[in-house]
Amino acid sequence: MTAHKQVGGTQEVFIQVKASTMAGTERAISAIERAGGRVLHAFPPTILVACLPAGQAAKLKGKAGISALDTRPIQTRRLPKGPLAMAVGAWNDHVGTERSLRDLASPEVGKAWDGQKTLLPPDPPADVLAKLRERDREVMPAGAATRGGPVMSIPVLTGRVAVGVVFVDSTVGAYAITDQEKMKVVSETTEGLSMLSGFEPRANIQWFYDFKRPKIGLAANQFTPANQNSWEDLWRNAGMGVLGYPANINGMVAYINHIKAANAAQWAYALFVTKYPKTWFAYYWGNHVVMDFGVDGWGIDNFSRVVAHETGHVFGCPDEYGSSGCNCTSVFGRYQVANGNCENCNPASMPCLMKANTPAVCDYTRGHLGWNELAVQSKGTTILKGTWTFDFDTGKQGPPTGADIWWRQATATVRFLTPQSGAFLAHMGKPNFDAVSLQTLKAQPYTALPINGSASSANRLTPGTVIAIKTNAGRYAKMLIKTYGYNLGIAWVTYK
Ligand SMILES: [Zn+2]
Repeated sequence: MTAHKQVGGTQEVFIQVKASTMAGTERAISAIERAGGRVLHAFPPTILVACLPAGQAAKLKGKAGISALDTRPIQTRRLPKGPLAMAVGAWNDHVGTERSLRDLASPEVGKAWDGQKTLLPPDPPADVLAKLRERDREVMPAGAATRGGPVMSIPVLTGRVAVGVVFVDSTVGAYAITDQEKMKVVSETTEGLSMLSGFEPRANIQWFYDFKRPKIGLAANQFTPANQNSWEDLWRNAGMGVLGYPANINGMVAYINHIKAANAAQWAYALFVTKYPKTWFAYYWGNHVVMDFGVDGWGIDNFSRVVAHETGHVFGCPDEYGSSGCNCTSVFGRYQVANGNCENCNPASMPCLMKANTPAVCDYTRGHLGWNELAVQSKGTTILKGTWTFDFDTGKQGPPTGADIWWRQATATVRFLTPQSGAFLAHMGKPNFDAVSLQTLKAQPYTALPINGSASSANRLTPGTVIAIKTNAGRYAKMLIKTYGYNLGIAWVTYK
């Protein structure tokens, strides 16, 4: 089978660990990290999916309790039931060829979330949404927002995240969940979250799963048009009760706090999947996502991208499709980045998970998720004085060596922003500074030409202008012109 082996790069590996507690799992995770890998998914305590430098997998066998490593589909014939079988099923779907071929041929992939004749967007209509937001505020009071500063109560999508997948099963036939349906949802969920975390390896996102399947006995006649706004409460509270938590919203919050602590996670949220009545087939509020098996007409094969979209909401992302009523000026996410990819106001809006059923993210969504703040080498605001130089790698004005730009004053009015020491510049126009990501900086058409900043109509450094810099040390940086004159008021961010 050597013909199928990946050469070079990092490779995903299904890892079995002999462990009965999290301490054992953590030992295996440390060994994986020492080998240059990182964990993508964990089904504690015995199963991990990691990416490892190709060729490293074999060396880990027998170390830190690691008993088996697989890079190819695993034979399931003799597997015991339980988490191992679910994880193996999801893995086999992931590495098998069927899913990739199905996605490539899918008529739904790439379609806008709205504007489809037969398909509805994965967010409730305005009136239902308003009710949910109201309840949101009851459960999660908004953090004190300092204007322009980060809102720390909004989570960023980085590091270890615990996901409590709660299947609200039933003794009533119409609402009962089959093992096969459960398996499919696990496969779709891990696939969707893999896609989301795969967009930003620097965020080192690790999904730690907890699966629950409370069986409740609520009958159909208990859900009426009159109590429509409490449908979710009925089945969710009953489910939490079966799991031994208080049968109310605090029970759910306690459950989420429990899985966060048990997995030493930076954040946790719950994903409820049920056939019980709900006001919409997919929605989010109060740090939990509710999903239906059918995903409206999108079909269960699109569950993965809908889960990723809803998870985007958990981490502060707004919708970007037209009928969501979005606008380009409202700010979102911990770092309060504008929703500039909203298609109502940006005619050139990009394909993005928050806009369409598409496996992609735009720079704005990256900003909302907190990814543009990752691996910052230096950042700040300063006054770049006329005739002075500036080094973006160190964030220093007038260094003896290594300056990337020179704010040259050729005459009293002729001024040039001049690259220095092998650095390059690109003029980006006036995009939203906070939303310019490292990815976008890498894609600029850099040159060693100076940029005209003369005190005349030729000036290309008017306030709001963003300049991309490839530094003399090979890093990427962005600079915002805040004020223009003999001195320039600037803000900058340099990425590692
Ligand atoms: Zn949405």
